[in-house]
Amino acid sequence: MSELSIVMLGAPGAGKGTQAVRIAETHGVPHISTGEMLRGAIAAGSELGRKVKEIVESGALVPDELVVEVIRERLSQPDAQNGFVLDGFPRTIGQAEALDALLAELGRPLEIVLELELAEETAVERMLGRAAEQGRADDTPEVIKNRFEVYRRQTEPLSNYYRSTGILVAIDSSPGMDEVFAEIERVLATLQ
Ligand code: ADP
Repeated sequence: MSELSIVMLGAPGAGKGTQAVRIAETHGVPHISTGEMLRGAIAAGSELGRKVKEIVESGALVPDELVVEVIRERLSQPDAQNGFVLDGFPRTIGQAEALDALLAELGRPLEIVLELELAEETAVERMLGRAAEQGRADDTPEVIKNRFEVYRRQTEPLSNYYRSTGILVAIDSSPGMDEVFAEIERVLATLQ
């Protein structure tokens, strides 16, 4: 089992979640998805869930301080001490800076940021397919459009943020998911 600390970047529907789960299983580290955690909180009706429900369902971002707290708590769990795959976090420069500070405290810097690249049209098709299967409240055409706008404005600048630190690797997400995963594994093998 190897230690691995990874951030997945990419537009909505680019396949971050699918690949993050496979990386996590293969390398024995937890898959940490803020989207899943927030949807879990909403389903459970917790205080956090009540605070974020409307925001998540509109496709906007929940405030940095709320997600940073969720991540701080999650990364302090025993299973995250030997690495993790972060999926959907960070999503703003503020979150990326908070993550850097948190990982510096823990003495475990990020090793790699994988950016999945996919044309918007293809991503939208994949998401509408997923909506039919999973019934996610934010996979309607209108909310999807909003999520792309939010992504372009708030999350895309993270590519440059991580490119400047030299840990960003772009992955073409247009082939099938097995091929994309094989490419990711080739890239990860160069780290060890
Ligand atoms: P996707 O990557 O498919 O857009 P996610 O499951 O990662 O979806 O996120 C779903 C929603 O949860 C986002 O649109 C947003 O409202 C909220 N969310 C998830 N992660 C964050 C985050 N890091 N910061 C703010 N909001 C978040």
